[in-house]
Amino acid sequence: MIYSFADIILPVAVKGSFTYSIPDEFSDDVKPGMRVLVRFGNRKIYSGIICKLHNVAPDLKNIRPIMELADTVQIANERQLAHWRWISDYYLCSRGEVMNAAVPSAFFPEGDISTSVIEKYSPREEMFIVLAKEFTDKELNEILDKLKKAPKQAEFLITYLDRTGYTRGSEIFPVRKSSLLKESGSSPEVFNALVKKGIMNSVSLEVGRLKDYGNNKEPLKILSESQQTAFNSIKNSFNKKDIVLLHGVTSSGKTEIYIHLIEEQLKLGKQVLYMLPEIALTTQIILRLQKHFGAVTGVYHSRFNDQEKVEIWKRVADEDPETGYRLILGVRSSIFLPFSDLGLVIIDEEHDGSYKQHDPAPRYHARDSAIILAALHKAKTLLGSASPSVESYNNTINGKYGLAELKERYSQIKLPEIIVANTREAYRKKLMVSHFTPELLHAVDEALGKNEQVVLFQNRRGFSPYVECPECGWIPVCIQCAVNLTYHKGINKMMCHYCGYSSGMPHACGNCGSTGLVTRGFGTEKIEDEIKIVFPAARVGRMDQDTTRSKNSFNRIIRDFEEQRIDILIGTQMISKGLDFENLTVVGILNADNLLNYPDFRAHERSFQLIEQVSGRAGRRKKQGKVIIQTSDPGNKIIRLVLRHDYLSMFRIQSEERATFNYPPFCRMIRISLKHKERSSLNHFADILGNDLKGLFGKRILGPEFPVISQIQLWYIKTILIKIERERSIVRAKDMIRDAISRLEKEKGAGGLKIAIDVDPY
Ligand code: ADP
Ligand code: ZN
Ligand code: ZN
Repeated sequence: MIYSFADIILPVAVKGSFTYSIPDEFSDDVKPGMRVLVRFGNRKIYSGIICKLHNVAPDLKNIRPIMELADTVQIANERQLAHWRWISDYYLCSRGEVMNAAVPSAFFPEGDISTSVIEKYSPREEMFIVLAKEFTDKELNEILDKLKKAPKQAEFLITYLDRTGYTRGSEIFPVRKSSLLKESGSSPEVFNALVKKGIMNSVSLEVGRLKDYGNNKEPLKILSESQQTAFNSIKNSFNKKDIVLLHGVTSSGKTEIYIHLIEEQLKLGKQVLYMLPEIALTTQIILRLQKHFGAVTGVYHSRFNDQEKVEIWKRVADEDPETGYRLILGVRSSIFLPFSDLGLVIIDEEHDGSYKQHDPAPRYHARDSAIILAALHKAKTLLGSASPSVESYNNTINGKYGLAELKERYSQIKLPEIIVANTREAYRKKLMVSHFTPELLHAVDEALGKNEQVVLFQNRRGFSPYVECPECGWIPVCIQCAVNLTYHKGINKMMCHYCGYSSGMPHACGNCGSTGLVTRGFGTEKIEDEIKIVFPAARVGRMDQDTTRSKNSFNRIIRDFEEQRIDILIGTQMISKGLDFENLTVVGILNADNLLNYPDFRAHERSFQLIEQVSGRAGRRKKQGKVIIQTSDPGNKIIRLVLRHDYLSMFRIQSEERATFNYPPFCRMIRISLKHKERSSLNHFADILGNDLKGLFGKRILGPEFPVISQIQLWYIKTILIKIERERSIVRAKDMIRDAISRLEKEKGAGGLKIAIDVDPY
């Protein structure tokens, strides 16, 4: 079939795709999913992707031709194109915005756009680095000891060990020399020195043959009786339903069940996508997967550079079972990889808020989008969680999803004992030591005495969330946002966590001039400082956004904790999820109040989930763990439920509340946010849109109003919330919203507005 026209997705924020004619010279070669060069707008050249070929002449006088084909192969397959279309329709964004999020930008280079990146990655011989022999743990420790005098060599070796997860004479994994040098920031001389010492070696391998190099895989763990029951129940449910929720308490062995399901799919020749909410988690899980599945396992997340992303992209698209990736472990953006034949999608910690992208567009939910992806492949989806989201659990009740359960921890270890420590009372009785209650200090002390480890959770980074003048109450705020500045002691700066603005610590009050400014509240940095004072002999580590900026920092901190070079690890929600440490027995939640009091309809659900999740890190292997929750409100109903690990009551109470007050999952929500640099113009345009929408939707419109943070980077913000009943057509509602926004954009002076639509903004 010869086609005359191609619809092309361009990296622009205009809705839809654009039709171009296909010159005869290209007509044999064009396929959907290929990159092409075209002119758009004022003679600018763009590279875009063909989404459709057809013979329907568009109703335009002047149809431009495709200028050039950028590749000989398709970049995206047809299922991906269909998936992008769904995302742009559902989340009300342009297909170009979806494409931008989906495709590594190396595919759209600036400047010379005609040379294909993909071609640079054809199979070839490359240098790889391996260990010189299968060292034992003891030998490795001796080597690392000796290398203390050569820190660069030690760093290089540790990077290799991190990357491969080498332990106790396990198989030696080759790592590409170029990437290891780069990752560790080492020079070739550093590596050569290690070769001379007989510690490492290089080998030349054909990239495609990587897999042969390690075939002695570890057999799967044998499932316990209750795990086997859950496994069977998942498979039975899959006979009737496409989506199943595995509700299993923390450390019940959900991951082991996933591994068994993955094995079945790989044997069938299918691909598997395994999603996690946080990059930090991939470090541990990837090792568990590679042990069993070897080199067909790949990882994908935003910390890879563009060239690496292209390489992963290509290996996912590679359908050869010897050279391609069959199993991908990834965070939310991994839904965009070019899978050819998915059999199963696993979404672990399905309730986690990090699956939702809030900015920029596409504002997609990776769990919901992955379910659609799975459907396009006729694949099954397994959601897993110890405390499922209210909407997913609700879907098991209304019959949309199957449900499988695991109610006990592996090897019958009890769920952790929860101790509620009343901070208000402790302050009153003067029993607090800095921010620590006697209960917490006692538990930490006991654990350290037995050489066990401790995690302290505080959901704020930095030293103090704000600084205050005790004389007049003045608080320094960001010059661009309506936000208090957080004090970071290590760098001695005040930082805005919204825009990144920073300034020095003021010497005097900006209002009354008094010099006695004090820090208020506490973040992870302050906890680190103070716990060191209370336990001077303990080795203390910290994991938050500030300590994990470099690519390998996650690995290093997690490894240090695993290998017990850290006794007390302090962290934000990064440490709350999925991590599995053998010797961790005590978890402290330093301030549950700021979780419970968050102004959002999901605050209670989320704090229950978070506390359950953090608690779940304690006592996973040998004995029951202990969790200390510090709060000024020990009678809080969510805390009472956490005490009993009572998920079902939490779910029931939340469902009733949401049904009564009309919140999801009983309605749908769309939030429009408007930004303008002038407050009066913002008010003006927000009212126009608000009134227009009220005319269409009546009482379903809430706002316009200023959100809690009403100004970011000099932009004033107002939001309008639309709640639509489940029974109404959401498609029609979205059309009406889109039309209303087009009308607003045509208003005089509306050019200074930024408009963002967020579908399911929770
Ligand atoms: P979850 O994913 O539910 O938190 P994991 O799969 O991480 O639980 O299991 C918790 C711990 O118990 C892990 O260290 C895991 O290796 C171990 N474990 C779970 N199931 C088994 C099994 N069937 N055989 C051996 N070890 C197991
Ligand atoms: Zn700011
Ligand atoms: Zn003052």
